Amino acid sequence: TRVLLTGGSGFIAAHTLDVLLKRGHSVVTTVRTQEKADKIKEAYKSYDKGKLDFAIVPDIAQEGAFDQAVFSDPPFEAVLHTASPFHFNVKDVKKDMLDPAIIGTTGILKSIKKSAPHVKRVVITSSFAAIVDPSKGFAPEHTWSEEDWNPITQKEAEENPVSAYRASKTFAEKAAWDFLEKEKPSFTIATINPPMVFGPIIHNLESLESMNTSNQRILFAAQGKFKEEIPPTGVHLWIDVRDVAEAHVAAFEKSDAANKRFFTLAGYFSNKEIIEIIKKNFPEYKDVTNESTTGGDYPEDFKEIATQFVKFYYDTFDQNRGNLGALYREHSMLTFENQEC
Ligand code: NDP
Repeated sequence: TRVLLTGGSGFIAAHTLDVLLKRGHSVVTTVRTQEKADKIKEAYKSYDKGKLDFAIVPDIAQEGAFDQAVFSDPPFEAVLHTASPFHFNVKDVKKDMLDPAIIGTTGILKSIKKSAPHVKRVVITSSFAAIVDPSKGFAPEHTWSEEDWNPITQKEAEENPVSAYRASKTFAEKAAWDFLEKEKPSFTIATINPPMVFGPIIHNLESLESMNTSNQRILFAAQGKFKEEIPPTGVHLWIDVRDVAEAHVAAFEKSDAANKRFFTLAGYFSNKEIIEIIKKNFPEYKDVTNESTTGGDYPEDFKEIATQFVKFYYDTFDQNRGNLGALYREHSMLTFENQEC
């Protein structure tokens, strides 16, 4: 299949590109600069131009940003839209977060509808942030699923950078479903809604400072930044980046993924466990915390809640996801310890 992948320079997109190419799909990926394209090209030099090519899209927040990129010969049949800001350096919530997330999503859908009639499926990287209602805390009485929507408001988006990010994912995904309903395009969509994504970094990193946001906590832990106090973990749920990549590809390869959300999940973790794993496996980092370090553990009743929660997904994974269940790798049920992070 001929596939357009947006944001090819990103952490998740790099793994998605890898799966696409290994499965024999031919890919055009968008990046912001030629330099970024060259770095990816270098990493895949054994693939010729027919298999991997690039389109430069400097800013997805611009109207019509994808108007050129959606053209291809042979034409695209699938589009995977991963590009969206995930960072907390937010000065202007609208400009830095909401616009690129929302206009980026509606923009690509408009461009496809207008100019790429062969596209059958658009897969959008959403997030668990678009599902969970953080005000409910761990909500032991509730099992989060694809039925749920984060009720975050425009006003709450302005409160802090984390809210801004969560709002950007919620509003962008909602805008995609609204587009589908109002515009009735000839393509179907699917969204992938992962919680915290960890795993090997295969995209080009200019420096450690440019580490993607979800892997940053592992970096900070290894740098000893949590020596005094380990910060709270947040949602405690994670998935391996390789499984997220597989999910993106399965979501267009499998026809029955049409117009569904997929809450992809491996299990739970705590920041304290990340540190324990680092110390156990890398003795040179044994001093990143000491006996007086506090924090970063599960809330008291969390393990019980989470075991229920994860068990639900494990038991019902296949029926929840139809054929997509087949992509769920046994290894994802293993603990974080067994991952090469
Ligand atoms: P990265 O920061 O590594 O990737 C983000 C990508 O989006 C980069 O390619 C970036 O380009 C591109 N991008 C951001 N803003 C713009 C813009 N204005 N114009 C053009 N390109 C832009 O993060 P991830 O790989 O983690 O994130 C990918 C997707 O996954 C995002 O949609 C994110 O919300 C979602 N997600 C991530 C999770 C995680 O834990 N990592 C969890 C749930 C969802 P450049 O590098 O050039 O800036």
